[in-house]
Amino acid sequence: TVKKADGSVVSFYHNEMTQAFPDKMIMETHLRRAIELNELSLHYQPQVDLQNGEISSIEALLRWNNRKFGAVPPSEFITMAEENGLIHPIGAWVIDQACQQLQTWSLQGINNIRIAVNISPKQFAQTDFDQVIMNALKKYHVDASLLEIEITESAMSNMNTTLIMLKKLKKIGVKISVDDFGTGYSSLNYLRLFPIDILKIDQSFVREIQSEHKDAAITKTIIHLAHSLGLEVVAEGVEEMAQVLFLRKEHCQKGQGYFFSKPLPSAEMERKLLDIV
Ligand code: C2E
Ligand code: MG
Ligand code: MG
Ligand code: MG
Repeated sequence: TVKKADGSVVSFYHNEMTQAFPDKMIMETHLRRAIELNELSLHYQPQVDLQNGEISSIEALLRWNNRKFGAVPPSEFITMAEENGLIHPIGAWVIDQACQQLQTWSLQGINNIRIAVNISPKQFAQTDFDQVIMNALKKYHVDASLLEIEITESAMSNMNTTLIMLKKLKKIGVKISVDDFGTGYSSLNYLRLFPIDILKIDQSFVREIQSEHKDAAITKTIIHLAHSLGLEVVAEGVEEMAQVLFLRKEHCQKGQGYFFSKPLPSAEMERKLLDIV
C-alpha cells in the first residue's frame, strides 16, 4: 500500500480484489437461486459390469447451468456451497431428484438399477442426515437398496459420529460406498469398523495403470482388499480398452468412465436403459 499526500491509502491489490470478490459474491447470489430457477440437473454415468457388460448402477453427477456463468464445474460450485451452507438445500435436492428418478424409471419397467449420489462431508455431518434420506425414499416409494451414497474418506474423520450415522443408514437399507478410495487419509481401521459395501478406486490410480508399475500395484491391492473383505469394487475413470482388460484380469467387478459413457442427461440415460430392458 502507498499513502498519498491527502492521507488516503492506495492499495496495489485494490483492483484485483474488487474483481475477485464481487465475482464470487455474484456467483453465490446466483447459486442461492439455482434450485428455484431450475438451473440444477443431474447427469447419469453408468457403472458397467466388467464380466457381462451390464449396467446395474449409475452415478448421479450434479450440473449447474447458469444464465450468466454458463456451465459451472461441480469442483467450483460445490466447494462454494460447502463454504456458505448452501450444500444442505442443494444436497437434499440431489437426493430428492435421484429418488424421483428411481420412481420414474421403476414405472417404466426399469427396475434393479441403483443410483449413487455423492454426499459432501458437511452434509454427512448433519445429525439428521438419515432423515433427509428416509424422507426422500418415502416420498417416492423407493426401495432403499436402490439408493447408494458415496462418501469420501474425509467424511469419516470422526470415528464415533461416522459409525453412528453409517449404522443408521445401514438400518434404512441404503448402500454405502467410499469414493476416491486411496486418496484421503486412508485408514484400514475404518474398513474394519464401518459397514461399507463398495470401494471406488480413484481415477488417479486407474489412469496410468498400464505404464506405472506403482499405480498397477495399488489398483490390484485395492481390488484384492475389497474381495477379501467381501466388498464390491468399482474402478473410476476407465477410458481405454487396455484398462478394461487389466481390470478384468484382476477380477475388478465394475468400471466407470468415458470408455463406457460420459455422464448423460436423464433422457439419454433412460434411452440407454430402455434398450437393455
Ligand atoms: P466423483 O464423485 O469422483 O465423480 C467422478 C468425476 O469424474 C465426475 O466429474 C465425472 O464426470 C468424471 N469422470 C467420469 N469418467 C471419467 C473418465 O473416464 N475420465 C475422467 N478424466 N473423468 C471422468 P464431475 O461430474 O465434474 O464431478 C466432480 C466431483 O464433484 C465428483 O467427483 C464429486 O466429488 C463432486 N460432485 C458431483 N456431483 C455432486 C453432488 O451431487 N454432490 C456432491 N457433494 N458432490 C458432487
Ligand atoms: Mg462419486
Ligand atoms: Mg470419485
Ligand atoms: Mg472426486
